[in-house]
Amino acid sequence: MAHDYARPFYNSAVWRKCSKGFMQSKNYICERCNDVATICHHKTYITPANINDPNITLNWNNLEALCQTCHNLEHHSGGIVREGLAFDSNGNLIQTAAPTQPPTD
Ligand SMILES: [Zn+2]
Ligand SMILES: [Zn+2]
Repeated sequence: MAHDYARPFYNSAVWRKCSKGFMQSKNYICERCNDVATICHHKTYITPANINDPNITLNWNNLEALCQTCHNLEHHSGGIVREGLAFDSNGNLIQTAAPTQPPTD
């Protein structure tokens, strides 16, 4: 989930330029499963303490091109995200597909 402290960063031109260049350098291929990468992940997670540190936030060595699935696994392997939901590149919860099973109640 995008935290408020990170929102200005993810909306910044410098991040968009940095992440776009990085993703292009990876040919938009997931570094873990070779699927189509849509997410520019920070290996060292962004926190309120490092959000203003370009060595963390804008360092290609700290970035990883991931597909939606691998990114979800990276952040939410505990099963927080339900089927049909995922996090976009800004960390916002989005609907990706209809749940495979209809609600039972
Ligand atoms: Zn992947
Ligand atoms: Zn991530």
